[in-house]
Amino acid sequence: MGADGMKVAYIDLSKEKAEVRDRSDLSRYFGGAGVAFKLLSEYEEVLQEDALHPEQPIIFSKGFFTGIYPCATKVTAAFKSPLTQELGESHVGGKFAYAMASAGLDAIVIEGASEKPVYIQIDESGIEIKEAEKLWGLSCFEVENRLDGKSKMYIGKAGEKLIPFACVTVDTYRHFGRLGLGALFGAKGLKAITISGKKRIRVKSSYYQEILKRIKEDNDLKKYSQGYGTSENTTLMNEVGGLPVKNLQTNRFDVEGITEDAFAKFLVEKKTCTGCPIRCINVAKRESNSPMVAYDYELIYSFGPLLGIGKAEEILKLVERVERYGLDAMATGNLLAWATEACEKELLGLPVPLKFGATENYLETIDKIVEGEGIYEDLRKGTEEAASIYGGKDFALTLGKNAIAGYHTGYALLLGRAVGTRHSHMDNNGWFLDFDKYSPEAAVDELISDEKKRCLMNSMGLCLFTISVYNLKLISEGLKEVGIDKSEEELFEIGGEIFKIKQEIKRAYGFEYEKLRFPERLFETESMSGFLNRETLDKMLKRYVKNTVF
Ligand code: SF4
Repeated sequence: MGADGMKVAYIDLSKEKAEVRDRSDLSRYFGGAGVAFKLLSEYEEVLQEDALHPEQPIIFSKGFFTGIYPCATKVTAAFKSPLTQELGESHVGGKFAYAMASAGLDAIVIEGASEKPVYIQIDESGIEIKEAEKLWGLSCFEVENRLDGKSKMYIGKAGEKLIPFACVTVDTYRHFGRLGLGALFGAKGLKAITISGKKRIRVKSSYYQEILKRIKEDNDLKKYSQGYGTSENTTLMNEVGGLPVKNLQTNRFDVEGITEDAFAKFLVEKKTCTGCPIRCINVAKRESNSPMVAYDYELIYSFGPLLGIGKAEEILKLVERVERYGLDAMATGNLLAWATEACEKELLGLPVPLKFGATENYLETIDKIVEGEGIYEDLRKGTEEAASIYGGKDFALTLGKNAIAGYHTGYALLLGRAVGTRHSHMDNNGWFLDFDKYSPEAAVDELISDEKKRCLMNSMGLCLFTISVYNLKLISEGLKEVGIDKSEEELFEIGGEIFKIKQEIKRAYGFEYEKLRFPERLFETESMSGFLNRETLDKMLKRYVKNTVF
């Protein structure tokens, strides 16, 4: 929120109208996730409608600390997910948050749907809804080159075809990846949004330099600034026995060809989000004529060990292919892994047979998932739905219908992903708790507490990689520097309120903890913490539900 209040752009694609309203009434929630979910909760009339109903809104909200302190780079997207039909939450870095600030906007609400393809252009002259017939059908790489703007986001064919795990690509290397925001764009006829502005955004704060120093000196962050970031996790997870391999049929793999050093051979640049000194985004180029793509552990895991692929170059080919279409890489890898095992077990008969490790077949299958017909239209619905049609739910690796991340570490991560608002490993600190060997009871209590803290961080727009620096004390001190007096306890309480708002929206969408499905495979294959059992997990879930009743 700026000195002139909280500015929210309401853009109605059905009526081809846009206006900016002051919503300073939401300032208690600062920005980011808090404001995004508060705005989403105002659309009660479409709570029960399908996620792709034209009146479902898309909300973007930048964090309160953007332009004030380092690493406040994230914009929260809030929407109803076409993949899960429950709460959709996604965060993006890149240049978008700063571009919003320079355009004088704190949040953007997109309502309605256009009958013809359009894109939204936001700049100093205002907000314009422009015709996009010529952009429709273009790949993400092509749209990026066709449009101008300080920050750009767009969909590829996957979003246009309403694939429920289509992503929205932002500034080439960042994504609203999970939960199908790309399909919402497609359903609204919205190909892209560009945003620029001239507003000066750096708020003078003497505390900025102090925080910058702490970020530069923080040992946990050196992995991102001086090393190869999360791509180092492949070796780690394999060593500790927490790496999901071949659809989690096992937890160990020959990782020699996919280590951080193997990927470093293709590394051409390290990029950063605007306002962040860490520069953690690894950008690779496979061949002189191949596109540049960003990579991290989740992509390596999803297209590597999970599919039995042990060569960096082959994983990059798969990353390039999903980038072209605008598909979420994690959901795609998860689907291909399930489909491969379903083929092995003769539950599924595909024209292009799938086999673990067969990269070329996977590439062809991705093309068919986007463009194909018949059985591929079923695969296009995602892992959970495809397993409902063909069988094999026991080895469909989804929690809350979302693809699992690459950490088979133990109970805390497993429960954390299942109960986390968006069923992501980033909702809470589950895997850290497994590494620190928390007891089941203590893990449950810490998961709840940590998710509330993250709700606050996400409202400030802070990159969660900086969680080791930005504790509640630092956030409280940072706020004081800009004239807002909130104690750590008060901030934790606000985080709890945001958590509650999210829980209420989830329940209104129909989510029930009791209906969570834990696929048998998670118990059949040994984790980093040994074999897991349902009884312990059930007890943890009961404790979680009891302790989160508001
Ligand atoms: S640490 Fe990486 S992802 Fe986070 S803001 Fe910085 S560059 Fe972006």
